[in-house]
Amino acid sequence: MQKDKIENLVWFRNDLRTIDNTVLSEATNKGSKVFGVYCFDPKQFEIDAFGFKKTEKYRAKFLIETVENLKAQLSNHNIDLLVYHEHPEEIIPSICETYDVSNIYLQKEWTQEEIDVENAVKEKINNVSWHHIYNQFLYHPEDINFEIHQTPQVFTVFRKKLEKYITIRHESTIKKQSETNRIENETRIPTLTDLGFEDFETHTNSAFPFKGGETEALQRLEDYFFITKKLGFYKKTRNGLVGKDYSSKFSPWLANGSISARKIYWNVKHFEKEHYNNESTYWLIFELIWRDYFRYISLKHGNSIFKLDGILNKNYEWKTDQKLIDNWINGNTKSDFVNANMIELKETGWMSNRGRQNVASYFAKELQLDWRIGAAYFESLLLDYDVHSNYGNWMYVAGVGNDPRDRKFNAQLQAERYDSKGNYRNLWLQLSLF
Ligand code: FAD
Repeated sequence: MQKDKIENLVWFRNDLRTIDNTVLSEATNKGSKVFGVYCFDPKQFEIDAFGFKKTEKYRAKFLIETVENLKAQLSNHNIDLLVYHEHPEEIIPSICETYDVSNIYLQKEWTQEEIDVENAVKEKINNVSWHHIYNQFLYHPEDINFEIHQTPQVFTVFRKKLEKYITIRHESTIKKQSETNRIENETRIPTLTDLGFEDFETHTNSAFPFKGGETEALQRLEDYFFITKKLGFYKKTRNGLVGKDYSSKFSPWLANGSISARKIYWNVKHFEKEHYNNESTYWLIFELIWRDYFRYISLKHGNSIFKLDGILNKNYEWKTDQKLIDNWINGNTKSDFVNANMIELKETGWMSNRGRQNVASYFAKELQLDWRIGAAYFESLLLDYDVHSNYGNWMYVAGVGNDPRDRKFNAQLQAERYDSKGNYRNLWLQLSLF
């Protein structure tokens, strides 16, 4: 039987987009025959060391929507996406053989689980060139003015080293493939049921009533920046708790790479040129620099970000009392502000930044529970789970990371300040009465 000859494989992981995707850009500009693969890795739906499902239903649904959209967008460029519900190490080697793949292009990752999967695939493949490309940064690691191991331990120092001196790269473009390159694609995107979940509706109180996928991400950007112009008020509203517009809500799309940080950056610049620049337009970029920061911290410190003593090697006493953990998860603590936030997370997979800071501080500093358990619960539930931002922020709040002031949040005072009329608490706490 004649084999299809398609030489260039793009292995999609957390870069599920066609616009400003440098991996896809490199593959399509260098090679003439390109196709893609995405694996819903069963490992991502297993139970973790702390007893949580690694990916809960909210992110699972969002991911399915994302991959559906990616497949359609790629198809517009005559690129096929093969989708499997299999371990990459089981399926990618056989794909390479079937299609005589000679190059694999993928986003460069450095955290342990991603490296383990990659190595398991590599062990089973010979004669393929691997192309690992940084595809997830605002400030590209090849452009910065210090060595990774010299990444400052304090965010402000990091930011000041970059923002005035380093230019953000322009968005990369992809080359449309010839129609003759299309391959027969009988693969099927798994359903929620295939992944072990029941279908569900988005909660009517949800602050994140959006869908997964590049198209939705771009629509949100258009809406938040150019239609409602909420970007112009971001700094004033960003500590909000209720509704879809107090913050950009870009994080779930950024986390799985449906949109790039650069795309957002260049659109802020576009907005500033077309309308005005103010503290708010600057502040959105400021927050994207935080996102980069935690990526540089994980690059610098490797697996220490997952260790109880964190990157500071702090030897605190931590508890693992199951009752305290369950009360936190279910919104049964002594703090009604913490409870409302935890119920929101459980019902929607979303929580505001203000809420996250408070519930994490309460978990680690008030209850003195092993912060990694809280982080693992977030990993399971969050729509926008991102390994670097999650573990970086948890370490920060728990006092084993990059907070030079090692602050503890007073949930009572925070509630009075950010939810003075109790609207947010009422919204979610009434659910716990039924
Ligand atoms: P906006 O306020 O509109 O900000 C724009 C973008 O800037 C965000 O989408 C995000 O990419 C970035 N950003 C903002 N704040 C931070 C921050 N503190 N750290 C890193 N990037 C930031 N964010 C995640 O994306 N994934 C996580 O798993 C995650 N876990 C967190 C855990 C804890 C304990 C805490 C305190 C924060 C965590 N964050 C995480 C950061 C932050 O809460 C979310 O990025 C933000 O709430 C997302 O909402 P938004 O997109 O509307 O943000």
